[in-house]
Amino acid sequence: MTLPVETTSRVYSEEDHRLIESVWRRLKRAIRYHELNEEDRQMIKRAYKLAYHAHAHQRRKSGEPYVTHPLEVAIICKREIGLGPTAITAAILHDIVEDTEVTSEEVHQLFGPRVGKIVDGLTKLDGLYNVESPQAENYKKVLSTLLDDVRVVLIKIADRLHNLRTIDVMPQHKKLKIAAETNFIYAPLAHRLGLYNIRTELQDICLKITEPDNYELIKRKLRETKAERENYIRRFIRPIKKRLKETGLKFEIFGRAKSISSILNKIKTKKVSFEEIYDLFAIRIIVDVPREREKSACWEVYSIVTDVYRPIPERLKDWITTPKSNGYESLHTTVIGPEGKYVEVQIRTTRMNEIAEKGFAAHWKYKGVSGDSVFDKWFDSIRELLENTNSNALEFITDFKTSLFREEVYVYTPRGDMIVLPKGATALDFAFAIHSEVGYHAHSIKVNNRIVPMGYRLKSGDQVEVITSRNQKPSESWLNMVITGKARSKIRAAMKEERKKLGESGKEKLLRKFRKLKLDFEENVDVLVKHLKLSSRADLYYLLAQEKVDLNEVLKDFDIEHGSLKYREPSGPASEKKDARRVTLSSNGEALMPQTLYIDGEPASKYKYTLASCCNPVPGDNVFAYVTKNKEFKIHRYTCPNATNMLAKFGYRALKAEWHVVLDREFVVDLQLNGIDDGPGVIQRITNTISNELGLNIRSLNIEGREGYFTGKLSVVVKNKDQLEVVMRKLSQVKGVTNVTRI
Ligand code: MN
Repeated sequence: MTLPVETTSRVYSEEDHRLIESVWRRLKRAIRYHELNEEDRQMIKRAYKLAYHAHAHQRRKSGEPYVTHPLEVAIICKREIGLGPTAITAAILHDIVEDTEVTSEEVHQLFGPRVGKIVDGLTKLDGLYNVESPQAENYKKVLSTLLDDVRVVLIKIADRLHNLRTIDVMPQHKKLKIAAETNFIYAPLAHRLGLYNIRTELQDICLKITEPDNYELIKRKLRETKAERENYIRRFIRPIKKRLKETGLKFEIFGRAKSISSILNKIKTKKVSFEEIYDLFAIRIIVDVPREREKSACWEVYSIVTDVYRPIPERLKDWITTPKSNGYESLHTTVIGPEGKYVEVQIRTTRMNEIAEKGFAAHWKYKGVSGDSVFDKWFDSIRELLENTNSNALEFITDFKTSLFREEVYVYTPRGDMIVLPKGATALDFAFAIHSEVGYHAHSIKVNNRIVPMGYRLKSGDQVEVITSRNQKPSESWLNMVITGKARSKIRAAMKEERKKLGESGKEKLLRKFRKLKLDFEENVDVLVKHLKLSSRADLYYLLAQEKVDLNEVLKDFDIEHGSLKYREPSGPASEKKDARRVTLSSNGEALMPQTLYIDGEPASKYKYTLASCCNPVPGDNVFAYVTKNKEFKIHRYTCPNATNMLAKFGYRALKAEWHVVLDREFVVDLQLNGIDDGPGVIQRITNTISNELGLNIRSLNIEGREGYFTGKLSVVVKNKDQLEVVMRKLSQVKGVTNVTRI
């Protein structure tokens, strides 16, 4: 391959040069370039030169020369994931086939098959999000890539992290889409691969995009309480530090604030205020000891900590004896610190800490290629899910996601073998985890020697015994009693088989009818499947067998010409146009709003749309339009609980929507109020604020008091988001009200 070196180097300005060189120097420092062997050094340098010239005509949205991006990604790969020279080379080349003239063959020729294959994998993943196909299918592809070479996905995560760190220059609608996809795929994968720091950063940046107000609020509160927190941490640490020094152990001890996203998550799920969260930080103690002393050293530290502060026994978690399935090792305990506050203490060694931060790659570093990895089991289960063709892509994702973020329970077979299952797994999940045949024929299940219902939720330490019976078989209701992907897809497969058997008579019926009408079976059966919007022939047979479809009735819509079915267009009003983006107002479908909304750059009145009732958007909210199955548009807020799912799985069905001129138009918003109940005064003060002070209308107000506290639901009519914010601010200032949130 020839590269026009002379001309490309002139494309860059003096300043570009300096910038690129400085990033390249940073990369060299990160990978300890001068300590590498000659071969690796040459390979990385050639990759840099190639990227430098090939990307010469591209710039990032920020204006910087494009090549700085792959170099930065390579730095992340080394510093934050701990990858080696082959992966670093591939990271430098990760966008080259997708975005420049350089071909995959050339990369193979220049860098050999090891680098070539990784770059191919990255190119394949890159192309995914441009195509208009369900994201669910794409997700499957990400996972099969993961099985081919984990490094591809690790580099992809680094790529995503750098793009998010520099996302500020992007337009808002793109940011929102990237955030949804990151939350859906990359953050869970980073978690599962043990990259805790990266996962946290990804989630925090996404939060900043989707919920800027909440993000800023928590950030501010963390800043305001910083001095006080640090003071407390110092007081907490002092006596422990003194005792640790006496042992002669090499150690580090410090306090670490929890991430903004995890704090917000807690506020939302536990319905508490920022001030009520006690574990805003955790204390971490890292000891540096040889491998064989690790376990005893950690327990020695534990013993010191619990000598100083009283522990809460239920909170003790020993992930050293039994590491988590993403490789995480650590000893956690919660103790009662000064002023009676609960404080979490994490005890681990330097090695464990590296694994906790860098995950997969660090795990391999210590384990070596020979040892069997905790990841192997997980990979096996993905492989099994991917090979099982009985679930469609969406079911597959739902199944798979249960294996990503969950905590685990450890249970035992009667022989004492340990089985790790996601938290929430049931006795029936256990049966399927042993073997699918055991699952299919599970007749009754004993936990700790007592018969339990199939849906019994397992607890760590349970001993489980499955009693099978040849006559037993899965039924539809079993699906509600399992949570693991394996069990779900096996049950579904069995149900499908069952349906197929039941469908035989339906197929017979159809064959007879077609013979009578002299219709070729193969040629016409799919016409009916499509006409009835079914997903398979089996569904049609089943519905016919169950007499849920009347064949004669259906055939009335068709003419028979030359032995094949021809659909007869119904006369009357023109049928719906096919292109969903051009749906116009139907005769009776009055638009619900005036032209305040623009969808895909055009006035919303061109479309038939409604405001989604799950999140009740008002003008000013960040919104998008979602095309439903009936080709109508629903307007959702980006913070809608369903948004992540919709955008990630069906991103191709979402359109950009924006509010333009806000006309005189009113919206109902539901607010939740919490506070201290000091008699009838509160209700009066609330209504007074809304009606008299702000002059707004209250639709309804419900207040319930209990033991000195009250919770209430208020429906109020507002014109836009600004007004809503005023309402919320004013309400939170009302005496007795402690918390106002939008439902
Ligand atoms: Mn990239």
